[in-house]
Amino acid sequence: MELIRHNAEARRLVTELKRYGGTLGMVPTMGYLHEGHRSLMAQARRENERVVATIFVNPTQFGPNEDFERYPRDLDRDLAACEAEGVDWVYAPDVPELYPHGPGTMVVPPPELTDRLCGGFRPGHFAGVATVVSKLFALWQPDRAYFGQKDYQQTVVIERLVADLCLPVSVVVAPTIREPDGLAKSSRNVYLSPEERMRALALPRALQAAWETARREGATPAQVLEAARSVLAEVPALSVQYVEVVDPLTLSPATDLAGDRVVLVAAYAGKTRLIDNVSLAGPPPIKAPSPLEGMS
Ligand code: AMP
Repeated sequence: MELIRHNAEARRLVTELKRYGGTLGMVPTMGYLHEGHRSLMAQARRENERVVATIFVNPTQFGPNEDFERYPRDLDRDLAACEAEGVDWVYAPDVPELYPHGPGTMVVPPPELTDRLCGGFRPGHFAGVATVVSKLFALWQPDRAYFGQKDYQQTVVIERLVADLCLPVSVVVAPTIREPDGLAKSSRNVYLSPEERMRALALPRALQAAWETARREGATPAQVLEAARSVLAEVPALSVQYVEVVDPLTLSPATDLAGDRVVLVAAYAGKTRLIDNVSLAGPPPIKAPSPLEGMS
């Protein structure tokens, strides 16, 4: 495995790879890697000749009062994780390498996808994401790029980016990896105190209640929402930003439960912003305990 710090080196590797027609899978991350990232790398490893993982805390996707400075970083630990997953190249540039002129030219996704849900609370966030992902795609020219469903709105924005800009890359969306109790893995979970960690469990529980309610005969989006909200209301210390049931492609609020729908939630536990979601057509967020669990 090689650590790549500079674009010139990346270009040289890509040119060489293309010469013999090898496929490249890319896993863009902000580092502080966990099992969620690692599952994306493992899938990329299975499906491509070469795998590049990118580790870059992207300043343009953070708002002025967000956690860019204190975002957790540990490159040595991340390199060990990438190595264990069989990654070929880790691209970890400094900020000026990707932003030689400051923010410079930005890629702005359409407002109908970004002025709501997370985008409504994080103005400019998805322009930052679309910009950095465009740069990474331009530089590395991956055949496939892997993203987690955990950041559902991000996957929709990136799929649209690729379609609208005719980018020659397949976007692969992989399931959310969770802790055994249901909490979605996130680099930001390290911020949580033990009490906040307990409160955070209301997110997967709310999604579980929504998922179960959607299975009832004749269930409506309003009932699904109410099920999620009532679980979240049991934990008043959690500050909920939104809970919504949406169409999976347009992200507009669902008026019925015909076809797939996605329930998304964002909330603060203390100073830590958490997001999670579940597809109503997919598996439930919390696994039923196996009858053998706890037995030795
Ligand atoms: P981040 O480092 O948080 O920007 O995440 C990098 C990539 O990993 C994104 O595509 C995320 O959606 C994905 N990811 C983050 N957490 C998880 C998770 N718990 N399960 C699956 N993918 C995840």
